[in-house]
Amino acid sequence: MTHIIHRNLRTTPPVAAGAKGIHIFDSAGKAYLDACGGAAVSCLGHAHPNVVAAMHAQIDKLAYAHTGFFTSEVSEQLADHLVAHAPKGLDNVYFVSGGSEAMEAALKLARQYFVEIGQPERTVFIARRQSYHGNTLGALAVGGNEWRRKQFAPLLVDVARVSPCYEYRDRRDDETPEQYTRRLLKELEDKILEVGPERVIGFCAETVVGATAGAVPPTQGYFKGVRELCNRYGILYIADEVMCGMGRTGTLYAVEQDGVVPDILAIAKGLGGGYQPIGALLASERIMDPIRNGSGLFQHGHTYIGHATACAAALAVQQVIQRDQLMSRVRILGEHMRTSLEQRLGDHPNVGDIRGRGLFMGVELVKDRATKMPFDPDLKLHAKIKAQAMNNGLMIYPMGGTIDGQRGDHILLAPPFIMTKSDIDQVVDLLATSVEQAIPALT
Ligand code: PLP
Repeated sequence: MTHIIHRNLRTTPPVAAGAKGIHIFDSAGKAYLDACGGAAVSCLGHAHPNVVAAMHAQIDKLAYAHTGFFTSEVSEQLADHLVAHAPKGLDNVYFVSGGSEAMEAALKLARQYFVEIGQPERTVFIARRQSYHGNTLGALAVGGNEWRRKQFAPLLVDVARVSPCYEYRDRRDDETPEQYTRRLLKELEDKILEVGPERVIGFCAETVVGATAGAVPPTQGYFKGVRELCNRYGILYIADEVMCGMGRTGTLYAVEQDGVVPDILAIAKGLGGGYQPIGALLASERIMDPIRNGSGLFQHGHTYIGHATACAAALAVQQVIQRDQLMSRVRILGEHMRTSLEQRLGDHPNVGDIRGRGLFMGVELVKDRATKMPFDPDLKLHAKIKAQAMNNGLMIYPMGGTIDGQRGDHILLAPPFIMTKSDIDQVVDLLATSVEQAIPALT
């Protein structure tokens, strides 16, 4: 009998007893190949000696000091490091303890900016249907994951909603990618005009969609168009890179590949690589300057913001990424993983789409490739593939479609950057085996 409220209240998961490199070991000694970094977290794998040493040294020196009294050397160094490698203009960093907190802080900072510049009538966020921005009430409100939102909907602020950028499912056969992109941008502009531009705070979007759709990248030019619309109507562009940021897609920030700079950018997961809970937002001077010269205070705060040990872990993770030139490794391994997935699963009758960027790849499963018809959601195919994969000693991140119950099952792969090509081949092989075991067992 457990006293923990586990995610599933009826079953207790295996006990993780240890971890090293790309494996987690359970208490029976079974090894699991970590091909999803938990949820795109463990970018350096487990027990990396540099990170462990940096944390030990920091704890010996200063584990924690409340930011209402002090700053710390290590948090200043981490902020400097993040800004030095961020898209130009994102010069300000606010540390939190995770992804939902980062998005929550982003929403409040955006609102406060408009209050401080004398536009308090701006109260509405626009966000996309197929999106996840976190589980706290503000972040849940902007997220479009109906399954997660449903029973809490009466507690959530109203958010205006537009379509996601999801080429595989939503681009019509008679449309070019450019026409599809223009259609989405027109929809966003129409939504801004419908709400009234003077009432809109900002547009929130994951650069590459993670937890609701399995690594769906934007079409070319989509975020350039978003940036232009936000500029035209004076609204903020808030990028959620909690999952896809910090190198996961082959550049430190995924927006670099789209050639845009958001006003606020949220990060977490890969920032600390799982060694400590840490997230952050980066904000432009355009936002911080009026607040600095206005109230002089961001009206927010948590006990653990800027936690020294968390910052030491994150700084060490980020330094290893630079030192070992892991961004080019992610790009090379990502291409290898794409080819390997296409070779092994590309012709599978139930694999509809293989997509993603860098080491952030999704596989979408369908009942019928020609019509893209998903499996019956009640069959919970994604969960069955996960169970098979765990039996086979493989960790993958599964999800069921949620937009309207009709979007099918997805598998997300987000392996550590330290894998080798043959590790990646092993991941793909075990995944294919798990898919081949789970689908026939459905009937
Ligand atoms: N935003 C995105 C894009 C995410 O994928 C997640 C978590 O999966 C969050 C926000 C919430 O992060 P956390 O679970 O650390 O609160």
